[in-house]
Amino acid sequence: MAKIQQVIDMPPDFDLIRATKGFLADDEGRHLYQVALEAARLGPCLEIGSYCGKSTVCIGTACREAGQVLFAVDHHRGSEEQQPGEEYFDPALFDPVVGRMDTFRFFRETLSRAGLQETVVPVVCRSELAARAWATPLGLVFIDGGHAYDTVLTDYRSWSPHVVPGGLLAFHDIFPDPSQGGQAPYQVYRQARDSGLYGEHSAIQSLAVLQRKP
Ligand code: MG
Repeated sequence: MAKIQQVIDMPPDFDLIRATKGFLADDEGRHLYQVALEAARLGPCLEIGSYCGKSTVCIGTACREAGQVLFAVDHHRGSEEQQPGEEYFDPALFDPVVGRMDTFRFFRETLSRAGLQETVVPVVCRSELAARAWATPLGLVFIDGGHAYDTVLTDYRSWSPHVVPGGLLAFHDIFPDPSQGGQAPYQVYRQARDSGLYGEHSAIQSLAVLQRKP
């Protein structure tokens, strides 16, 4: 009798995702999971800006199903807008002993609760440094790190060359209407979209996905 290959579509744990600190809407998380399922057929996935692991659970769950790996790049010291005195500062994530932000403790806790320790490879440094010696082709790159223009541009320039043909490049916090949010990710997204290297794949709320041309 022929072996029947059963594909189990097991959605991410949204109770855990909602309980995890971060900035990702439910619909965006669901979409991220779907695009990661598609992309993981082509290669490992990589995210920039893991924070406490909200998006990591969405992409990581897809990678686990696909038998794939997710590289989760974050220095875990918080981005520009998350520092003390800034708009998105969360005192609960501030480590008074070292006098800096530390989201890594929370990130590890999320990975453990999601059962993703055998799927997610934390890369704890600036994304530019991780990219310096990178050579692995990637099925998905998700850019959601610092939201200053130079930071987003550096993330794009550092990782876009590693997206395989047919692979996906996703951006978070894309707001074509300036009254809805900061414009830096949108500016870089447009550069990528207009580069000739990518076609539009899909978008939901502020999550926009491009697909590398063959
Ligand atoms: Mg974001």
